Amino acid sequence: MTAPPSDDDRSSSGRTDVVHLGRDPDAQQGFVNPPVYRGSTVLFPTLERLKTRRQPYTYGRRGTPTTDALSEALTKLEGGAMTTLTCSGLQAVAAALLAFVRAGDSILMVDTVYQPTRKFCDTTLKSLGVETIYYDPLAGAGIAELVRPDTRLIFTESPGSQTFEVQDIPAIAGVAAKRGLFLLMDNTWASPLYFKPLAHGVDVSIHAATKYIVGHADAMMGAIIANDRAASHVDRIKEAMGLCPGSEETYLALRGLRTLDVRLERHHSAGLAVARWLAERPEVARVMHPGLESDPGHAIWKRDFKGASGLFGFVLHPVAEAGLAAFVDHLEFFGMGYSWGGYESLILPFDPRSYRTATAWTEPGPALRIHIGLEDVEDLKADLARGFERMAAAA
Ligand SMILES: *Cc1c(COP(=O)(O)O)cnc(C)c1O
Repeated sequence: MTAPPSDDDRSSSGRTDVVHLGRDPDAQQGFVNPPVYRGSTVLFPTLERLKTRRQPYTYGRRGTPTTDALSEALTKLEGGAMTTLTCSGLQAVAAALLAFVRAGDSILMVDTVYQPTRKFCDTTLKSLGVETIYYDPLAGAGIAELVRPDTRLIFTESPGSQTFEVQDIPAIAGVAAKRGLFLLMDNTWASPLYFKPLAHGVDVSIHAATKYIVGHADAMMGAIIANDRAASHVDRIKEAMGLCPGSEETYLALRGLRTLDVRLERHHSAGLAVARWLAERPEVARVMHPGLESDPGHAIWKRDFKGASGLFGFVLHPVAEAGLAAFVDHLEFFGMGYSWGGYESLILPFDPRSYRTATAWTEPGPALRIHIGLEDVEDLKADLARGFERMAAAA
């Protein structure tokens, strides 16, 4: 019922890739992992070399063997032409957008996008003379009606932040290709293993590597993976903005990548198990998890994705604030806080009413986002069940 993705529906190469890509033990005295190169200055042995720059590394900001190891692995995992690493997921989103827009352009932005992405559009892009038009995540091929002569790109994020609507990426890619638009996607939820944006017609895949790639809540990191068509734009913004993550963070992301597949299998199966359990609870009005057969996005998720991560949402029947507090305040295994994708379980109340503009959120009860970590799933259910008991007692 909650089996992790099988080899039938996922090439086993992804599994082998996360272990082997970006590593060359022969080049480092046989040690399994690459060293952490810390550095700014790179020396040139001769004037001729300085002038021609004909050596692999020229300056710390422009890349090191450590950043190359992670970039190479991500480029190959997603089938791209190149990867630029950044200090955070938000920096990756912002840089990717800046790589393509010019004053006078407009962009189509999914209404269910990560909220700080929306803020970047509504403040920084606006001040640069770029207009953002928000669209319904379920628009699919209908997005063609929103394309204007000044539209430059379409930005997608699937499933949507907090409310988990699944977008029909191939349908949107068809429109983008026909109208000559760039198509960008925030692929953080699925990670490079469970969705392949570039194979579905996306030009630029963006990750908050902070989440599942780092995987241990101990570093911030972002990545922009571009296809051939988009690579020169992304490369230019990398050079212009001096995008370069720290060496230690890069190493932590590389280390996280090695176990991404096994961690995701657990997040997938445990997340689905808790989602099904929540769906049966009398306190719960609705569970938002595309892996559930009852979810409106299930068919597209099943067609396009190779698994689900451990992040989903649920809505409670209306309950007083004191009841909600009694539920979340004393959970033993669920922490309350931002971010997700680590080994630990998290829970976070949210209310999209104040920031969505192209869609209406009409659920009367409180909504919660939940991240199912690597704990025993029975312990997690029991913890939530005790929370529901406290909620009833507080009502
Ligand atoms: C967290 C997140 C980001 C931003 O990543 P940071 O590393 O926290 O800056 C971007 N997109 C999505 C979907 C996220 O969940």
